[in-house]
Amino acid sequence: MGNYQNSVNTKDLDSRYFMQAFGRDQKIVKGEGSYVWDESGKKYLDCVAGIAVCSTGHCHPKVVEAVCRQAKELIHISNLFYVPNQAELAEKMVEISGLKGGRAFFSNSGAEANEGAIKLARIITGKKKFVAFVDGFHGRTCGSLAVTYKPAIREPFEPLEPECTFVEYGDLKALKEAVDDDTAGVFVEGVQGEAGIVPAPEGFYEGVRKICDEKGALMICDEVQTGMGRTGKWFFYQNTSVTPDIVTIAKGIASGLPMGALVAAEGISFKASEHGSTFAGGPLVCAAALSTIDIIEEILPSVSEKGDRFAKGLSAHNPRFCGLMIGIPVGEEKCKDVYEECRRNGVIVNCASHGTIRLVPPLTISDEEIDKAVEVINAAIDKTDL
Ligand SMILES: *Cc1c(COP(=O)(O)O)cnc(C)c1O
Repeated sequence: MGNYQNSVNTKDLDSRYFMQAFGRDQKIVKGEGSYVWDESGKKYLDCVAGIAVCSTGHCHPKVVEAVCRQAKELIHISNLFYVPNQAELAEKMVEISGLKGGRAFFSNSGAEANEGAIKLARIITGKKKFVAFVDGFHGRTCGSLAVTYKPAIREPFEPLEPECTFVEYGDLKALKEAVDDDTAGVFVEGVQGEAGIVPAPEGFYEGVRKICDEKGALMICDEVQTGMGRTGKWFFYQNTSVTPDIVTIAKGIASGLPMGALVAAEGISFKASEHGSTFAGGPLVCAAALSTIDIIEEILPSVSEKGDRFAKGLSAHNPRFCGLMIGIPVGEEKCKDVYEECRRNGVIVNCASHGTIRLVPPLTISDEEIDKAVEVINAAIDKTDL
C-alpha cells in the first residue's frame, strides 16, 4: 500500500500528551471495504468496524464522493439557517423509522441523542424520573451516564441527574414495579451491545410498551448500536410489533462521521428554543448519512442471512446474535487471548462485557469474508482452549 504516516512517536506522544482514558496499543492508518491496515502494512479483516460505526465498510466510494462534493460546496452553516441535506435526511429518518407523522432532530453522538431524549421525555410528560436496565449502556455524558448501568463508570461521577432506577433486563414484573407516576421514560436496547450482545427475550418489547402505556411513560428505544440496519431491519423494534415514542440513533448513521439523531412519534417534539446544537445536523454529516442510507437500502435484505452465516459458522461456541451483532461467550480469562490470536491472524474482534467476543462488522461484509473470519475466530478459540 505504501505511503504510511510515520508514527514512530505515536505511542510516546499519546502517553505524554493525551489523557489516558483509552487502553490501546496499535495504530490503524488505512481502511477500505471490510479491511484496515496498520502502520507496518499488515492487513486485517475488520469485524468491529469502529464499533458498529462503519456500516458501509471503510471509505465506501459513494460516501467519500458525497462528503467530498459537499465539502466543496459548504462545510458548515449555523442552524440559524436551513441547512443543505438536513430536511431531506429528516424526511428519510421518519420514513425508515416507520413513525408516521413523526419528526427528527440531529445530534453529534449517541450520548447526545440520549440527552435529547431525556429532555424531550421530560418536557412532553412533565415527569422527572427514568427507568433503565441492568447492563444497559446509553453513553458517557452526565445525563446519559445517569441511565447507564455499569457502576464502575457511573458511580465515580455521582450525583448524576436524572434519577434512574435499574431493573433486570427482560424482567417485566420488576419493570412494572419500578415505573411510577413520576417516570418520564424507559430506556431500552433491543440487543444490549456493550453488555456482550444480549438480545431482548421474546415478548419483552411488547411488555415494556404495555407498561409504559399504562403509566404514561415514554418508551425510548436506544438504537445507537442496533439501528441503521444492523439487526436486519432499519431498527430493532421493527422485528417486534412495537413502535416506540422516541428512537435514538448514532453509530452506523453516517459511515463514520460523527452524528446522532432522535426520531419521535407524532406529537412528540421540541418547540422553539427547547433544544439546540451548534454542529448537529450540518451539511457534511447529513450528506454522509443520506449516501449511507442509499447504500444500506440495497444491502438491508441480506443482513439477516449474513448474521445467520456467522452464527452457523461459530455454532460450536454458542454465539448469541441478532443480524450482524454477534457475541461469543468465551469467558473473562480467555477474551483477551482470543482477541490477540485473531489479531495475529489478521482479524479484528472486540472484547465486550462478561467475557464476550463481539462482532459488529460492516453490513457490506461478503460471504467469503464471513467464512474467513469464522475460520480464524474458531481456530483462535480452539487454540486458547488447549
Ligand atoms: C455507543 C452507544 C451509545 C453512546 O454513543 P456515543 O456516540 O459513544 O456517545 C449509546 N447507546 C448505545 C446502545 C451504544 O451502543
